[in-house]
Amino acid sequence: LSEINEIHAALSSTFLTSLSAHIEPSPSTTSTGYPLLSLAYRQHQLLQLARLVQENADALCNSLWIDEGKPRQEVVMAEIGAVIGRALRGAKELESWVGGGEEIGEDVKLDGWQEGWKARVEKKAKGVVLIISPWNYPIILTFQPLCGAIAAGCPALIKPSEVVPTFSKLLAELVPKYLDPAAYRVALGGIPEITKILELKWAHIFYTGNGRVARIISAAAAKHLTPMTLELGGKSPVIIDGANLGEGVLEVAARRVVWGKVNNAGQICVAPDYVLIEPAYIPAFIEACRTALESFFPEGALNSADYGRIVSEAHFARVKGLLRDTKGKVVIGGGALDGSEGQEGARARGVEPTVVVLDEATAADDVLLQDELFAPILPIFPVASVAAALEYVRAHEHPLVIYAFTESESVNREVKAGTMSGNVVFNDTFNQLSVDDIPFGGVGESGYGRQPLKWTFEEFVYLRSVVEVPFSEEPKFGGRYPPSSKETLDF
Ligand code: NAD
Repeated sequence: LSEINEIHAALSSTFLTSLSAHIEPSPSTTSTGYPLLSLAYRQHQLLQLARLVQENADALCNSLWIDEGKPRQEVVMAEIGAVIGRALRGAKELESWVGGGEEIGEDVKLDGWQEGWKARVEKKAKGVVLIISPWNYPIILTFQPLCGAIAAGCPALIKPSEVVPTFSKLLAELVPKYLDPAAYRVALGGIPEITKILELKWAHIFYTGNGRVARIISAAAAKHLTPMTLELGGKSPVIIDGANLGEGVLEVAARRVVWGKVNNAGQICVAPDYVLIEPAYIPAFIEACRTALESFFPEGALNSADYGRIVSEAHFARVKGLLRDTKGKVVIGGGALDGSEGQEGARARGVEPTVVVLDEATAADDVLLQDELFAPILPIFPVASVAAALEYVRAHEHPLVIYAFTESESVNREVKAGTMSGNVVFNDTFNQLSVDDIPFGGVGESGYGRQPLKWTFEEFVYLRSVVEVPFSEEPKFGGRYPPSSKETLDF
């Protein structure tokens, strides 16, 4: 734990030295201090980050196979490719994020009487920051915030999740090999370590995880007035507007919902949590889910290397408990590995993709409609109409995402106008995360702050306004000084 104090002191010293260096954005400018704030340095670190992930893609994938039993295809698609692409883009676009010009910042328009002044907004690094990442997509959810910190010029301490120890240890080995150890460090450990880390003063905390822990971290941050980004989760609903889906479209909708649910065995912050649908369309929807699952996993999901596992024994027990306690009817799946199948380690913690139909009258009280499921379980909640579905969604916490499947323009408008959520997605699931230029994040219980790319950079900078008033303007200021006169008191 004393090491944490030393790391904090070293990172702070790096930042202070760089502040005193008066570095201009041009890489050719000579400097006397640490180059952390120069654009060339930041771009180099971003390129190094891309290289770290590219050169170690196999080891990173393997670490998640060991820790979580996560299929390689999922890691490559959702994590490796995205991190490399975004780090490279960050290096390329950094200058425009910062706001180019002779000096870093953007000039603002002045009133006529201020002619001769200079006024500018600068985006300045907040200082030494803390990044706390979760286990479910640990590669992207560690490196994506780190890209933002690097781009902003902030030294960072990274605290990966203790739930993925092989990944976290690998991260601690790789970061000093590729990135500047004076500015970017990794701290391993669990609750005692993070508790100690949170006693220290950070310039910003970027936390991705659950709302319960977010409250603990927010309370610690409040002691230092530390600003935060909270990337949280919640129950993201799916509204199926069966009446407005053309021939064969319900089948496509079901395939897209099920795909979003089976990725990482449902352990995604944006997983479609539950389905709201009118009773008339439920039988066809279930059959389409079954067809989709059979096509994804012809040999059965639990026999497929393309299907993920539950991250820990505690979560495995929790998920099996949900299946035990629901009052709904299991119509697809429902099974779990029990240790007799010869699968080992994380791969022994398998739960089948499961669809459960809830009873309309009691659904709202069912265990599956309480907390975020974070499991490959898809509850179907029969509702009388799309209007009733929207009413249910409005009456609950603002989700990270609302998914709606409809071909009706007016329903599309109703969903957008009549609800609140961090994101709203029509006719697909999960893949909205591949749209690089939209801000991703929550509202209310699903968190605040945004990523990726420029949006993440914005989390780690503060806006500093600079106003320069020349002495030569003094003759224009006669009227502002006391004593007042009739002209200066009139509007
Ligand atoms: P987790 O258990 O790995 O915890 C996240 C981090 O919090 C870890 O680094 C852990 O060390 C730390 N932590 C745990 N207990 C703590 C405590 N008592 N005090 C301080 N720090 C503590 O991951 P998780 O929270 O189970 O992750 C899943 C949650 O994250 C879900 O709710 C999911 O929706 C959400 N999530 C959100 C996003 C997003 O971008 N919005 C992305 C992924 C996951």
